Amino acid sequence: MSSKEQTLSIIKPDAVERNLVDTIQKKFIDEKLKIVKAKKIQISKDEASEFYKVHQTKPFFDRLCSYLSSGPIVVMILEGNNAIAQNRLIMGSTDPKNADDGTLRKMYGLSIDKNTVHGSDSIENAKKEIDFFFKDNI
Ligand code: UDP
Ligand code: MG
Repeated sequence: MSSKEQTLSIIKPDAVERNLVDTIQKKFIDEKLKIVKAKKIQISKDEASEFYKVHQTKPFFDRLCSYLSSGPIVVMILEGNNAIAQNRLIMGSTDPKNADDGTLRKMYGLSIDKNTVHGSDSIENAKKEIDFFFKDNI
């Protein structure tokens, strides 16, 4: 079964800084995910804390929010068949050391913190995360 879905993707500061935006976007397109919207922004630490609030009790939370707000990011709505799971496959495991060959995190991730991309993990979170960045339809 396949169903058309949308998911939120973020190209994190480590990848924007290394000029990997075009390369990563090409990978999504090659893997049959359409980039419906994309914008380059920088968010505050408070906004990052709101975005990642599911992780607020984790030991890495403060570092994670400092990092996501440390430089420009590219936020995108990706659309395609099973887009949420498909994007997670393209990204690879959270820790680049454990990611499969050919995944974005294996190819470009620097560490578990600087792991190049974010992707929504469920239909519910995809809706919330898309709304978080694109609620004003910009
Ligand atoms: N993270 C971290 N240390 C950990 C686990 C996660 O720094 O031990 C960071 C990592 O950058 C990850 C983010 O927190 O991308 C969110 O964690 P999650 O478990 O949701 O991983 P993801 O969904 O991004 O694969
Ligand atoms: Mg996650």
